[in-house]
Amino acid sequence: MSDLLANLNSPQLQAVTLPPVHALILAGAGSGKTRVLTTRIAWLMSTGQVGPHGVLAVTFTNKAAKEMTARLSSLVPINTRGMWIGTFHGLCNRLLRAHYREAGLPQTFQILDSADQLAMVKRLLKNLNVDDEKYPPRELCHFINAHKEQGVRAAQAEVYDNYTQKRVELYAEYENQCNREGVVDFAELLLRCYELLQRNEPLRKHYQERFRYILVDEVQDTNKLQYAWLKLLAGGGAVVFAVGDDDQSIYRFRGAEVGNMRDFEREYAGDNVIRLEQNYRSHGNILAAANAIIKNNRERLGKNLWTDAGDGEPIRAFEAYSDLEEARFVVEEIRELVRDGISPTQIALLYRSNAQSRVLENELFTKNVPYKVYGGLRFFERQEIKHALAYLRLLGNPDDDTAFLRVVNFPTRGIGARSLENLQATAHQTNSSLYNAAASLTGKSGQTVGAFIRLIEQLRVETNGLPLPEMVEHVIEKSGLAQHYRTDKEGQDRLENLDELINAAATFIDDEGAIGEGGALVSFLTLASLEAGEHQAGEGQEAVQLMSVHAAKGLEFDVVFVTGLEQGLFPHENSVNEGKDGMEEERRLMYVAVTRARQRLYVSCAQTRMLHGQTRYCVPSCFLDEIPENLLLKLNKKAEPAAFPAFGSFGGGYAEPVPSGGLRVGQTVEHAKFGIGVIVSTEGRGADARVQINFGRSGMKWLALEYAKLTPV
Ligand code: ATP
Ligand code: MG
Repeated sequence: MSDLLANLNSPQLQAVTLPPVHALILAGAGSGKTRVLTTRIAWLMSTGQVGPHGVLAVTFTNKAAKEMTARLSSLVPINTRGMWIGTFHGLCNRLLRAHYREAGLPQTFQILDSADQLAMVKRLLKNLNVDDEKYPPRELCHFINAHKEQGVRAAQAEVYDNYTQKRVELYAEYENQCNREGVVDFAELLLRCYELLQRNEPLRKHYQERFRYILVDEVQDTNKLQYAWLKLLAGGGAVVFAVGDDDQSIYRFRGAEVGNMRDFEREYAGDNVIRLEQNYRSHGNILAAANAIIKNNRERLGKNLWTDAGDGEPIRAFEAYSDLEEARFVVEEIRELVRDGISPTQIALLYRSNAQSRVLENELFTKNVPYKVYGGLRFFERQEIKHALAYLRLLGNPDDDTAFLRVVNFPTRGIGARSLENLQATAHQTNSSLYNAAASLTGKSGQTVGAFIRLIEQLRVETNGLPLPEMVEHVIEKSGLAQHYRTDKEGQDRLENLDELINAAATFIDDEGAIGEGGALVSFLTLASLEAGEHQAGEGQEAVQLMSVHAAKGLEFDVVFVTGLEQGLFPHENSVNEGKDGMEEERRLMYVAVTRARQRLYVSCAQTRMLHGQTRYCVPSCFLDEIPENLLLKLNKKAEPAAFPAFGSFGGGYAEPVPSGGLRVGQTVEHAKFGIGVIVSTEGRGADARVQINFGRSGMKWLALEYAKLTPV
């Protein structure tokens, strides 16, 4: 036990060992919020206050959830498999899979990613003869998602003019279409789950009673619906523990509301707000730069971060002539760092916009530096992978029109646009899926489409009962996809990716804990839509990490490059045009970027950059000016190879709780004066025995056991 709590500073210890009361941990980057949250779960379980079954923990990315589970299993000797630790989307998906009937979904319901959603909306507009210039599909997607994120269905949407009237009608049509196909988009996962819990009392009660402790990381980025979902689940008396940083709220464009954090403070935490001010991640210069940048924002709750790690190295700044030169500089530095013994996995390359990764990737590839991209053109979003997945989706759910249209004529089977239009019209009239409507087609269309239907039926029979990887392999081969890419000049890469999909299926099966309700295929397809893009680099290979700043939230690296610091790019022009709020959000994003670095930070920009096919002439970002001169080391040419300090590592262990005087660590007790508290540690024996108790609001106390008059609760 002492090992578990060792290496926590005093407010951290206070937070980890709080008695069962709602609390908010409000603290800046790198102050140990995530560590406190994870340690609290470990502590609650190892002291017997709650079992793995009774914990619900929400984190921001699948990567974070995995890390949390891994860390937990190293801290507590229990089986963390099957614990409810995940993202909002992941947890909602899990709940809907378990109760698909009550939720009105087919067992094999599929998830539409944003590209699928866009395709579906385009198709819908076409079917309904709606002018897509007047109602641009992307905007319509945004309109629909924004409503769902507010918990508003088409039927309740506010209509204030003809234009909105039409958009709401299209939203309703879209809902019908999704229901007909048995598919859900990302926002729907949450809304459907929320409505299910709200409507179905026995189910709600069940989960409310089950989850005794609810813990939320990155609470500043929850949207209205997510917050409502949490409140619903906490409605049965669960203890809610939320951690967040208002300075790192970067998902406003997806409906995140920092206001939720204030609401949480008011509605739940009350006086139980703990602030952590010591930063353990970054060297002093990095932290000073971050503090100097964020100071320019007005809308802040206000925090002061400090570190005793020493100033460390200056921040390296580089201004390149072009994006190519910037990439060359970055890759040259990386090669030197790796030569000096830095692990490539500890080097992150960050950018504001995914389109920037191409130049960097190209240079890394040319110089033979292994790298891994998170986000961007993700593995599961590649054309060939989507095609293979579409076949697999049709095996699970033939009514999935999006999947149907993707592969009905791929590889080419002589099914023309006219046939498909007929088919779509028939489906629309008979209110059925394309798959079902196919039977009523006659003539040549009937034959060609009929052959496709028979292919799918045949694949279904042939793959029945096969293990997942073999099933995937079989479908890739027999659908004609493999053959198609074999004869394609540029098909080699795609074939390799398809092989990689089979590998992904095999890895997925090995990790058997991942198999959820609905069988291996459904779980695998779910992974493909929820966890896109974490597979493309060889598993276990040491690779430099490339990602957007958004995707880097919560992570940390020894060395961080923040690239493309140019006006219009970072801060992004869209946000700049939005005025002050947009600008403050960009600055928070910059703060997130800078605070990812432990030991060394690079900031760079280019004077010209090719973006979206055009050369842009760039001005350095205003954020560069916000970093005090004295922290910067300006590099015009190649950097001096500087000595790199040795890296320390932190770790905790686990020890059994020590019983003492009939009281156990982790036990909740009541004290006449201090109220309810929980035992954190014990010391001494007999008349000398003392207990340390965390009384929440009344603080942490050491009491002599003999006189303390504690009543177990
Ligand atoms: P972010 O805001 O970026 O999500 P955070 O507040 O969640 O950051 P953590 O990731 O939990 O911060 O911690 C930052 C780093 O500091 C981690 O490497 C963590 O292990 C380390 N750390 C936290 N607290 C301590 C401590 N008391 N002693 C030593 N290291 C610590
Ligand atoms: Mg964190």
